[in-house]
Amino acid sequence: MDYIEERKKIVEFGKKLVDERLTTGTGGNLSIYVPKDRVMLISPSGINYYDTKLEDVVVMDLDGHIKEGDRKPSSEYAMHSIFYKNKPGVLSVIHAHADFATAMSCLRKNVPPIHYVIADMCRELKCTDYKIYGSPEIAEEAYRVMGDDNGVLLANHGLLATGGSIESALGNAVNIEFLCKLYVYASAVGNPVALTNEEMDSVARKFQNYGQPKEDK
Ligand SMILES: [Zn+2]
Repeated sequence: MDYIEERKKIVEFGKKLVDERLTTGTGGNLSIYVPKDRVMLISPSGINYYDTKLEDVVVMDLDGHIKEGDRKPSSEYAMHSIFYKNKPGVLSVIHAHADFATAMSCLRKNVPPIHYVIADMCRELKCTDYKIYGSPEIAEEAYRVMGDDNGVLLANHGLLATGGSIESALGNAVNIEFLCKLYVYASAVGNPVALTNEEMDSVARKFQNYGQPKEDK
């Protein structure tokens, strides 16, 4: 069995999706790209994250052919491979039906930057048009609307996050859900005020210097 480290991460981060309350049971899917072999490792379809074993993770090429594994891959594999084919910096994709992100996706509108944590992911969280799950159309729409960002809402469906590592993709997924939760809560009692472009620019510059010595974002 190849790609043991990547398999371990798919299993570990699948559980994190549940622990971070981004999904329940078998909802959503996640993948890691291995550029040198042009393959991705993706979670299997219909297996609970806490029951997924290393051998259940499916190895696929970017054209949808299974290279290793007996399980059926996630039905959304095209929505993962389209990013690996076309965006060189993307090494992981996470998709989930998180409660607040999915609620906001039903409004089919972009979520304004009401909190600075999204500054290194996007300037506003965009929402796609509706396309049926598991189709080439939803993959193309997600890719088109995401553009240079690392997160997007899929209309009436959920969230999609990308990153240069699975840690970064999960962080973006968590921040998407956080932003949507804040928007729902704040909208319940008033009109949330978005940060301006200039304010988001200065946060983005600060993020570039983020790191040791440790500074809380
Ligand atoms: Zn889905």
